[in-house]
Amino acid sequence: MYDIAIVGAGPAGAMLARLVAKKYKVLLIDKRDLNNDNLSNSIVKCCGGLLAPDAQQIIAKLGLGLPKKILVNPQLFTVRTMDLTNDLERYYQRFYFNMDREKFDRWLVSLIPDNVDKRFNSIYKSFKKNGDYFDITYTKERKKYTEKAKILIGADGGNSEIRKSTLKDNLLPDKYINTGMV
Ligand SMILES: Cc1cc2nc3c(=O)[nH]c(=O)nc-3n(C[C@H](O)[C@H](O)[C@H](O)COP(=O)(O)OP(=O)(O)OC[C@H]3O[C@@H](n4cnc5c(N)ncnc54)[C@H](O)[C@@H]3O)c2cc1C
Repeated sequence: MYDIAIVGAGPAGAMLARLVAKKYKVLLIDKRDLNNDNLSNSIVKCCGGLLAPDAQQIIAKLGLGLPKKILVNPQLFTVRTMDLTNDLERYYQRFYFNMDREKFDRWLVSLIPDNVDKRFNSIYKSFKKNGDYFDITYTKERKKYTEKAKILIGADGGNSEIRKSTLKDNLLPDKYINTGMV
């Protein structure tokens, strides 16, 4: 039995797994192949790859330094905004990091301690509440597996299956906050 099962090893899931691993028995499931650095079969995420100053600050606060190999050219210092309806154009200064998103995700995964059970290449399918724990079903190479966990966390992105199945008709919360990448 796991204390916490996290579905999704993107920035949210990977960071959480890293932070809770010291205290809890953690299972982390992701459909991507995040076990190695072979990027040839990777699912490319739709992302601009810009790390905003707030996210940079949080990474620094957590005592982490972004490796240089993640950064890509060109680095950006100015953002051009266009309001097409009103025919307005503005420039403002903004210190984003331009980075390779896939490498960034894999760097975060590399920081997860070994005691977290990582099931990559594994597709989350469903959960069933059984008293005070969850039965979590996922498939790997078409084989079906079930694990038990006291807490289930859906970090499976914007199209979250877990959110869809728990919120039913009420798909969007009253207040929606996009937290960016960290
Ligand atoms: C077009 C576009 C451009 C963007 N550009 C930027 C940008 O420049 N800068 C920025 O900060 N943010 C950007 N974002 C937002 C950013 O991508 C998200 O905020 C961020 O990815 C959220 O992280 P997350 O960990 O919550 O989810 P995700 O990064 O989506 O991670 C979810 C993880 O869950 C896994 N998963 C999903 N379903 C399953 C399943 N059934 N079974 C197993 N695993 C599953 C996925 O493989 C993935 O690894 C952009 C978003 C879009 C759509």
